[in-house]
Amino acid sequence: MNDNRIELLLEYARQKGATKASCIQPDKVTIENRLSAFCREPKCPHFGQSASCPPHISGPSMLRNLLKQSKHVIVVRIEVEGDSLHGEERPFVMQLLHEITAEIELEAQRIGFPNSLGLAAGSCKKSFCDEHLVCNVINGDGTCRHPTKARQSMSGYGVNVGELMKSAGWSTELFSNAGSDENEELAWVAGLIILL
Ligand code: SF4
Repeated sequence: MNDNRIELLLEYARQKGATKASCIQPDKVTIENRLSAFCREPKCPHFGQSASCPPHISGPSMLRNLLKQSKHVIVVRIEVEGDSLHGEERPFVMQLLHEITAEIELEAQRIGFPNSLGLAAGSCKKSFCDEHLVCNVINGDGTCRHPTKARQSMSGYGVNVGELMKSAGWSTELFSNAGSDENEELAWVAGLIILL
């Protein structure tokens, strides 16, 4: 990793709010068709609700092709209080994750990776357009209401997030004690940016 743009992007990710950021080789991203199939069966409540989720995204085969063309993948995760992933705060946490992922993608494009692609956990429909009946891309005039913030679903492409955490050198435990207070539980959500 002797490209100093990578270090700049990792630092940028932390400045923007990522708790952790790491660069891994593209062949360390595990993609499984069966994981993207879970969106359809058993059906995720967000299936078909936005242009960023199946069946409106191109899926695992396209992502495998992109990874073959890439030399670096940035992985980010934000760590939050466990409770915030259960209740009303959840869409805001996912919104933050999408925004950070999008900002790194756009910065990567600006500094010389013009075709970079960011993917984030969760549905942009729930996080950004919940007050709208429909996604404006698939049921409106074809334009996204949040093109600089919302990104496509990592799960919809079949990314094995547990393996992604291992590749980045981080714990795979979704909930863990924070350490200083044994009653405080931390959780995390993650995204990735394929540099191209
Ligand atoms: S319009 Fe809303 S639901 Fe549709 S892709 Fe954009 S952010 Fe997602």
